[in-house]
Formats: sequence, structure tokens, C-alpha cells
Amino acid sequence: MTNRMTIIGAGVAGLAAAIAACRAGFDVRVFERSSGLTHQPGETLHPGIEPLLEMLGVWQRVAQSASYRHLGIRTRNETGYVDRQYGDTDGTPWRGLQIQRLALKQILLEEAQKLGAHFCFAAGPIRILQAEGDDLILSVGHAHHCTHWVLDASGQSNWLRKHDRSTYESATKKLSVCYGYSAVDDSEVEKDWPEIHPSSTGWIWKAFISKDQIAWARLTIGKPEIDPLFKHRTGVADATWKLSKRPVSKNLFRIGDAAFRMDPSTGKGVLRAIMSAMMAVHLARHHHMSDLAYCEIERTYTKWLSGWFWSDFKEISPTAPWMRL
Ligand SMILES: Cc1cc2nc3c(=O)[nH]c(=O)nc-3n(C[C@H](O)[C@H](O)[C@H](O)COP(=O)(O)OP(=O)(O)OC[C@H]3O[C@@H](n4cnc5c(N)ncnc54)[C@H](O)[C@@H]3O)c2cc1C
Repeated sequence: MTNRMTIIGAGVAGLAAAIAACRAGFDVRVFERSSGLTHQPGETLHPGIEPLLEMLGVWQRVAQSASYRHLGIRTRNETGYVDRQYGDTDGTPWRGLQIQRLALKQILLEEAQKLGAHFCFAAGPIRILQAEGDDLILSVGHAHHCTHWVLDASGQSNWLRKHDRSTYESATKKLSVCYGYSAVDDSEVEKDWPEIHPSSTGWIWKAFISKDQIAWARLTIGKPEIDPLFKHRTGVADATWKLSKRPVSKNLFRIGDAAFRMDPSTGKGVLRAIMSAMMAVHLARHHHMSDLAYCEIERTYTKWLSGWFWSDFKEISPTAPWMRL
């Protein structure tokens, strides 16, 4: 069973992990509780995603499915706006992507299936029953499943909590985000520049995602609030900055939002999900290849996650003092 890897959740983190694990030679099974891939908010991808998607072998397909490639983020207030371009290489600007989450997940799913990952949608409740040596026996609905590695990619559901009771460290006050989609109106948002409108208690985000649709989100402290401008609310989510107190223990990893999450204004949720998936698979592979000890895996992964989390916090929190505890 040593090369069996089981992934809980088929969001971007779980799908990216499935591809990386198949490429690393693992026998991969993914259990997803929904009956298929599901829609999620968050169409704006940071340009840093390009080399990762290239490594996963899906970059060309993702780039072709993107509706727009934007240049950076515009910050607007009452007096005007400031554009922060992502960067450039020898004068050629880096561009982010606008892509529907379902389209991105479909491309990742097809690649993972092509590489031999097995998917079980509408999976029944999953529990860790017992450890047998270094292997784990899971119950999935009424069936049993033996595996060596388990990656919790269940997002905010924190599936693993039932097993290890581990919680999160919150770095901010409780933040809520309310999001939805509107028809393109006369508002000034431009295709090349998704906008953030900060205030003293949160922000509003608008991005052009197709020729007739903009995505919007509104972040507030405490309870979610709907902006009267955006009547069609489609969902709310917790956007509190949270870091898992136990992102890895022996052969159990948390990846993506299950490991660490920040409010969407960082614009890197998908990037974090994919990178943490690739990092977990990389460490598991080295355990087999070069006898990397479990304690080394725990030390490296925990340090890497918390380093990223706190460095983003240091960068963002001075510009948003209202979110500090
Ligand atoms: C309003 C909003 C806007 C955002 N905008 C952006 C953006 O523009 N760009 C960006 O990069 N990021 C954005 N993000 C963040 C980004 O969406 C998340 O960071 C990302 O979806 C995390 O991916 P994940 O795979 O870890 O978790 P998820 O996408 O939440 O996937 C988890 C999966 O696990 C499944 N699951 C849950 N529990 C179980 C269980 N018990 N058993 C089996 N399966 C289970 C779920 O059904 C789901 O398919 C935004 C977030 C919000 C809320």
C-alpha cells in the first residue's frame, strides 16, 4: 500500500494533487462528496500560476479557456485610482487570467483521469478507522479502503478535524465575504484592470469575467453585508485569515484552504491550493525515494506553510488595519 495516495475533495487543490501524484508514480484515488464538479467563486488567477500549470501539463488548455488576461489590480477610492501592474519580463507584461472555476476544474479533472487517477463522486461519509503499521484503513460509505497517504483537500469543511480535532489559528477578526455576478453595466471597471475599492471596514471587488458579466465580492468585518449596487447575491463565505495548527502529521496532509486561507483580496487562493498540493506530493515522494523521515516532512511542510501565511499577513495587514485582532 506504500504508494497509495487518497485525496479527499475534488476542488483545485485535490485535482492538482491528483495530477502531481500520478506523475510521481502514486496510485491515486479521489473521493468527492458532491455528485460532480461544482461551481465556486474566484475567477481571477495570479500570473504566478503559469509555471505551476505548465508543470501539471495543463497550461495551454487553461490559457485557451481564459476569457481575459488582465495586467494587474486597480485600487480605487473617492479621489481616483492607482494601478499595480503584476510585473514584466524585458518589457512584456505578465498577465493574470480570468477563467470560470468549473472550466479550470474540468481541465484538471481530465488530465488527472488521463494519467490514471480514480475518482469517486457522491462518496459517502469518509472516516479513518485505524492505522495498520504505516497504512491507514478508511471507511467510505459502507466500503473499506486501505491507503498510505491521505491528503485532506476538503477546503473550509476541514474533513480531517473529525479525526485529529485540530483547529486553526486566526490572524484576523472574523471576516465575511458576500459574492455574486452582475450584468456589465456602466460602471468603470475595465477588462485589463479588476478593481478593489477599500474602505475603513472592508472592500468591494469587481472583475470583468466575460463580455456580459462582472464578478463582484464584498468583504466586511463580522456578518456578511450585501451592497445595494449588487442585487444578485449568490453566496457568502468565511474570509477570516486562518492557519491550520496541524497541517501535517505523519502521512496525513492538509492542502489548499484546509491548510491555510486568507481573504480573497490576496488573489492567490488557487495558487496556494495548487502549490500546497504539489509540495505535499513532493514530500511524500521523497519519503519513498530517499527515506525522508516523517518528522522532516512535518517540519518542512509546516515551516513552508506558515512562512507564506505570515509573510502575506505582514504585507497586507498595514493596508487593512481594520482586520487586525
Ligand atoms: C468570494 C470568493 C472569491 C474568491 N476569489 C478568488 C480569486 O479570484 N482567485 C483566487 O485564486 N482565489 C479566490 N478565492 C479563494 C479560492 O476560491 C480558494 O482558495 C480555493 O477554492 C481553495 O481550493 P480548495 O481546493 O482548497 O478548496 P475548495 O475549492 O473549497 O474544494 C474543496 C472540495 O472538497 C469537497 N469536500 C468538502 N468536504 C468533503 C468531504 N467531507 N468529503 C469529500 N469531499 C469533500 C468539496 O465539495 C469541494 O469540491 C476566492 C474565495 C471566495 C470565497
